[in-house]
Amino acid sequence: MSSDEDFVRAFFQAQQQRQKSDADRVKELLGEDTVVFHNNKPAYALNSSLVLKQQLDVSELRALKSLHAEKLKYFDLMEQTDDPEKLKAYANEVKFIEFEMQKNWHFPQDESFHDWYRVPKCTCPKLDNQDRKGSRFKVIDPQCPIHGDGLAF
Ligand SMILES: [Zn+2]
Repeated sequence: MSSDEDFVRAFFQAQQQRQKSDADRVKELLGEDTVVFHNNKPAYALNSSLVLKQQLDVSELRALKSLHAEKLKYFDLMEQTDDPEKLKAYANEVKFIEFEMQKNWHFPQDESFHDWYRVPKCTCPKLDNQDRKGSRFKVIDPQCPIHGDGLAF
């Protein structure tokens, strides 16, 4: 085995160890894990390093977990309909959820950092909008049932 491989292996082991220990520290500090459940199954885990960095308390961590679970419920509802009015209403709920998330993460409540283009059925360009995160510019697909006006093609 080359020393490069050793280095890469050691790097990933250290990284895994660090991630594991951050999750352990959160559990130790707050008595609560970061796992978000959806339909009674673990869906994903919140970023433990960020929980520590932002010095969240247990009520903020719990709030974030239920907000994430709530968001996944709205995503399901959006998957299940093609009615633009419903899609827009659900996307609006997701927007309020994202504002609440920002508050609980101790971030500014700033819509320009929201993942509004990642809601189900949105056809707006993902990478273009990701690149513009934090700016007031958005790239809208006119045909998007949620954000477009349906007029252009
Ligand atoms: Zn869209």
